[in-house]
Parts: sequence; C-alpha cells; structure tokens
Amino acid sequence: MEFEDKMLSCRDCNKQFVFSAGEQEFFSAKGLVNEPKRCPNCRLLMRIQRNGEDVNRVAEVSCAECGVPTRVPFQPKGYRPVYCAYCFQTKKREPQPEQATADEEHVADDLITGVVSS
Ligand SMILES: [Zn+2]
Ligand SMILES: [Zn+2]
Repeated sequence: MEFEDKMLSCRDCNKQFVFSAGEQEFFSAKGLVNEPKRCPNCRLLMRIQRNGEDVNRVAEVSCAECGVPTRVPFQPKGYRPVYCAYCFQTKKREPQPEQATADEEHVADDLITGVVSS
C-alpha cells in the first residue's frame, strides 16, 4: 500500500499540518484507522498538561536524524541525540547498540498516546 503526505487541520488551533506518509505507515502498522485530530504541537501540549509538566520547559530542537524542527517536553542534555517521533520509532525498530539506552524522553511527539486517548 502506498502512502502520500496529507494535509489535515488541527481541531485545537485550526492550523494545517502534514500527516506524512511515514506517519500514515506507522499508524497503519499499529492498526490505527483514525487520522490525528491535532497538530504535533497541540498533541505535545496536551501531553505536557496531562502529565502536569511545565509548558515553559518545552524546548524547540531539530531532529538529529532528519532535521525536522520538533518540540520536546524536556531540556535536551546535549550529549544525546533527540529525534522526532517518526525517526524515534524507526530507530527503535533497528538494532542500534548505541541507542540501547534511548528512553521515553526521546519521544518528541505523542503519536501513540495522542491516538489512544482520542
Ligand atoms: Zn494545533
Ligand atoms: Zn526525524
């Protein structure tokens, strides 16, 4: 099955965002049929608020793999690469001895929980 980038509008901020082919493939692989209703930023803000975290701690960084600007709910420590949600998922699937310590905080987006909760 072929996927193509798709433009969706966010339910919260009404901005258009890209539901990329890679994300669609990811959703499909997880058996998720609903498209995301919120843009990545709103999904992230929702998660931060749900966790009772401080929105001001959110840092804007570039994905170490694809360079896409992404927001993370923590201050990157500098010595570990930060990935966007898609690259993070891709990395997890590959055997990456050096990334074996990668943990939850490297999930820059909230693809999985954002969908489960909707
Ligand atoms: Zn939004
Ligand atoms: Zn990336």
